[in-house]
Amino acid sequence: MTMNVLSSPSHSNCGHWYVRHGICLTCKKKPSHAESLPFDYLFSGLRLSQEAVSYTKRLTTLISLHTHKKLYLVLDLDHTLVHSVKVSKLSEAEKYLIEGEQPQGLKLYESRIVKVRPFVKDFLKEANKLFNMYVYTKGDFLYGKKIVKLIDPNKTYFEDRVITRRESPDHNKTLDHVLADERGIVIVDDTVAVWPHHMRNLLNITKYFYFKKDGINKVSYAERKRDESRSNGALANLLKYLKVIHSEFFSCEVKEELDTKDVRLLIKGPFKPYGC
Ligand SMILES: [Zn+2]
Repeated sequence: MTMNVLSSPSHSNCGHWYVRHGICLTCKKKPSHAESLPFDYLFSGLRLSQEAVSYTKRLTTLISLHTHKKLYLVLDLDHTLVHSVKVSKLSEAEKYLIEGEQPQGLKLYESRIVKVRPFVKDFLKEANKLFNMYVYTKGDFLYGKKIVKLIDPNKTYFEDRVITRRESPDHNKTLDHVLADERGIVIVDDTVAVWPHHMRNLLNITKYFYFKKDGINKVSYAERKRDESRSNGALANLLKYLKVIHSEFFSCEVKEELDTKDVRLLIKGPFKPYGC
């Protein structure tokens, strides 16, 4: 009688921690999806069990805090880092954007026109020294990838850490998809309501509108040929606040255990930093 690897006693208690394309990497069985979470943004078809998620969150955060002195930053995309609309939605006074010379930070993507928020480049460069960064968007996978490529073309800041509707199809956002301990995560989003379970981690930023808002009479930045201030806009002020949070978090030594440190006690969110 040959021993079947699938019924091998050493694997009989397998917790199916890491599953790829439906097959457990340890025991090669096909566990149900009910107890696991998708992490396609890291590797296509990857799912982690709840236990594996908790373990990995803790481990990555300990390494990050001790070795790199970095916290985690989860950034929303639309209205936080960029504003995009369908080209067909441009007002008459905005049509010059697709005809003549385009202002800096403006890109056409399929049927959409995308404006990068002023200061994004400097913001990412500086924030990257203090944080491991994620993008978390309710947009679909291809949209998320494309837009992130505009602001991080060489994957310097986000690598593949772009969470989209593919992993997170629900209306709300959750830190379950972020492989870091919640005690070390700062969220930045223009919409508070999508984070019902993580308000304390949340910094609220003013919505960035470059193009005309549907149904609103106010003249847009694009129509005025103006833009949000670079030096005193929301992202510049956010960076100042993030530096303070980082410095306070690391002001006394981080112990081996995470339990004594919690960035949420510093943020007390949802909070809107001055000038953001
Ligand atoms: Zn298994």
